[in-house]
Amino acid sequence: MENQELRKAGLKVTLPRIKILQILENADHRHMSAEDVYKALMDADEDVGLATVYRVLTQFENAGLVVRHNFDGGHSVFELAQGNHHDHMVCVESGRIVEFCDEEIEKLQKQIAEKHGYDLVDHSLVLYVKPKAQKK
Ligand SMILES: [Zn+2]
Repeated sequence: MENQELRKAGLKVTLPRIKILQILENADHRHMSAEDVYKALMDADEDVGLATVYRVLTQFENAGLVVRHNFDGGHSVFELAQGNHHDHMVCVESGRIVEFCDEEIEKLQKQIAEKHGYDLVDHSLVLYVKPKAQKK
C-alpha cells in the first residue's frame, strides 16, 4: 500500500520512505515532529538515522504527501496531507495539538477577505492556548 502511495507521489520506493510513511499512517498522534518519527523508528527497531528522517520528511512535503506546520515555540510537526481541512490549537504548556474546524470561522474569514476585495485562497489559523484556570 505504501509502495503505491510513494509511486503516486512520484517518489522512488526505498525502505526508509516506506518505514516513515508507515509510522505516520499508524501513529496515535496525527502530528509528529522529526524526532517523534525517529523515536518511533527506534522503538520499532528500525535502523534509520535522524538525518534521513529529516530528509525523507522534506521529500514527502515537497511531493505533497505531508504538510509541515511551524508552530511557535516548538519543532516543525508533520501530518499526512490526506483528510479534511482543519485548524489547530496548540497548548503552550503541554505542546499538545488539537484539531478543530468551525463553520462560523470559515465563513467569517471568507467575508473578511471579500470585504477587502479579495477571494480567500487558503488560510492557516493557529490558536495558542493553555489549560483553563481553575477557580479556587
Ligand atoms: Zn492537523
